[in-house]
Amino acid sequence: MNKADLLTSITQYLSEDKVGFVANAYEFSAKCHKGQHRRSGEPYIQHPLFVALHLADLKLDANCIAAALLHDVIEDCGIKQKDLAQRFGSEVGVLVNSVSKLTRLELLAIHRRNGEGIDPSTAQAENLRKMFIAMAQDIRVVLIKLADRLHNMKTLKAMPRERQLKIARETLDIYAPLAHRLGMADLKWQLEDLAFQFLQPGRYREVSRLITQRRGKREQYIARVTTLLKDALESSSINAEVTGRPKNIYSLHQKMNRYIAQGKEFDQIHDLFALRVLVDRVQDCYAALGIVHGIWHPIPTQFDDYIASPREN
Ligand code: MN
Repeated sequence: MNKADLLTSITQYLSEDKVGFVANAYEFSAKCHKGQHRRSGEPYIQHPLFVALHLADLKLDANCIAAALLHDVIEDCGIKQKDLAQRFGSEVGVLVNSVSKLTRLELLAIHRRNGEGIDPSTAQAENLRKMFIAMAQDIRVVLIKLADRLHNMKTLKAMPRERQLKIARETLDIYAPLAHRLGMADLKWQLEDLAFQFLQPGRYREVSRLITQRRGKREQYIARVTTLLKDALESSSINAEVTGRPKNIYSLHQKMNRYIAQGKEFDQIHDLFALRVLVDRVQDCYAALGIVHGIWHPIPTQFDDYIASPREN
């Protein structure tokens, strides 16, 4: 992961001068963080670079990518919002400053200890409220924080155990639900699985082993039904993209808990994997669904229509 990877990524959707603008933000950030390292031993710049790359994958605008690169320079390098505004415009200054406010709040929540008369859940609730306020003002602040948290979770091994637990708990309680609310399913799954791995390492290994045992068969099955459905949609002239995926480990764990509570077995869990069909229009959804139901019979209690009754995300 380096500067060239980021520039290659944004060249696909940003104009040449915007790419130059982001490159300047990178240089400035690299200069500010020079000599600083992450706990993992990596040069610090790798962290904002990861955050920027993640947001570039989502094709966010140049100001957001620049702010992602600069997101820790107020907090960790003592740069002023005013300086950022002068160099990169007031929008970038405001974005970085808002991210920094949330970062300070996080550190406060993490450093609060139990038994000192402060309930850590209160600090979390406070954090959550601030996140929603930030979201209302500029959604990009929350997107930067989510990508920031993803990288912090990916490098959490380097932290002391007590801190790992607090950060993982907060990820599961605040960040994963936020990603869910924003419809960022992939991010939600990644955050959940990373947090679960630290919070319940034994259980995490157990559930992943169950999945791996069946993986060979499962992947063959996913490939077979994907092709089957693709062909059926094509012959009905429905323009669709069909992809298959295994369920994430944490949601499987939750599902297993529900099944155990109902006295059912692991073998009775139906959705160990999922297919996603993307079409152009709502009416195509129902046409595609008709085709699906023509091939596989729906199980009455296992079927939901989220177009007719939308979910909160
Ligand atoms: Mn950061």
